[in-house]
Amino acid sequence: MNTENKQIILTADRPTGRLHLGHYVGSLKRRVELQNSGKFDQINIMIADDQALTDNADNPGKIRENIINVVLDYLSVGIDPALTTICVQSALPALHALTFYYLNLVTTARLSRNPTVKAEIQMRGFADEGLPAGFFTYPVSQAADITAFDATVVPVGEDQLPMLEQAREIVEKFNRIYGPTLVLPEAMIPENETQRRLPGVDGKAKMSKSLGNCIYLSDTPKTVKQQVNGKMFTDPQHLRIEDPGHIEGNVVFTYLDALSTKEHFERYLPEYADLEEMKDHYRRGGLGDGKCKKFLIQVLDEILDPIRTERAKWEKDIDSVYDILAEGTAKAREVTNATLARVEKAMRIDYFADRSVVKEWEELLKKTNL
Ligand code: ATP
Ligand code: MG
Repeated sequence: MNTENKQIILTADRPTGRLHLGHYVGSLKRRVELQNSGKFDQINIMIADDQALTDNADNPGKIRENIINVVLDYLSVGIDPALTTICVQSALPALHALTFYYLNLVTTARLSRNPTVKAEIQMRGFADEGLPAGFFTYPVSQAADITAFDATVVPVGEDQLPMLEQAREIVEKFNRIYGPTLVLPEAMIPENETQRRLPGVDGKAKMSKSLGNCIYLSDTPKTVKQQVNGKMFTDPQHLRIEDPGHIEGNVVFTYLDALSTKEHFERYLPEYADLEEMKDHYRRGGLGDGKCKKFLIQVLDEILDPIRTERAKWEKDIDSVYDILAEGTAKAREVTNATLARVEKAMRIDYFADRSVVKEWEELLKKTNL
């Protein structure tokens, strides 16, 4: 077990599309900061292709394509393969076995209560079409992912809190039944409330690949401009510049809440010291939506430009990207296999770890044959 009190991170993303700003503010930015903090003994990032198949079973090509997109996004935002192990879920068979064992430790009633899964079932139309059992149980497979790496810290967006809660329950139950074996993980969510769940450009509750309301980290400046100017609504009652405006539910301000810094104001809008001053002016009237959107586009491009540049570099060297993924996955296979061995021992199903069971069986037969 992780007895040395090691600090270990695991996070994952589903390869269902390129990564977007929601991933960036909710989790990725934090992962890079934690990676560079030097405070962690081991950092793992997993591309959750098996989980992505739970609601894309009929579209494996999409998952295969997006593995490369997701790994390029990681490398472009500053995930450094020298410090972080990047791996692919389907190539880690220990995770499948752990999922199968953990499924015995949860009830279907408990799974049905998971609010994130409930919302996702609704969003995907599974309530009418039929719900794939794999999708219904994916929180259990996430528990397998987290515990297989002995993760202590899981930096995620708010939508993942129910998964962490579920994983913790599984750990507690497992350890209660089979003895202390698994490490209890903690979720780490952003302090900034807007970053915990960034809405889509359409104002919908969550920016999500599946909803098609994203600004992708790899979007061109032209696309970003189109998304902001064309899709983001502001305050429908703010018809003339001099009208007082509302901040609540105003997507442009929500994004500025999540992304803008004092430095952005110094560089692009020095007439305001910070976002609060800008908001006050908007509320009073006299600040146009065009000006707000222009500022947001500048902020976005400042964040995205270095990411675009890095991506362009890596795109020219897919051979190296492949090696990074292959090496990371091989390393992760060792780590997760070791956890599986520990789990099977605790569950007393480790028959082939060594031949000690032969003696055990012989003695048992001796006793029963007396
Ligand atoms: P899908 O629609 O396929 O589920 P997704 O866009 O929800 O994709 P995931 O791969 O499920 O992305 O999520 C990866 C990580 O990014 C998780 O930690 C999740 O909490 C975080 N995340 C995803 N979307 C957002 C968002 N809009 N705001 C904050 N964090 C987010
Ligand atoms: Mg999701």
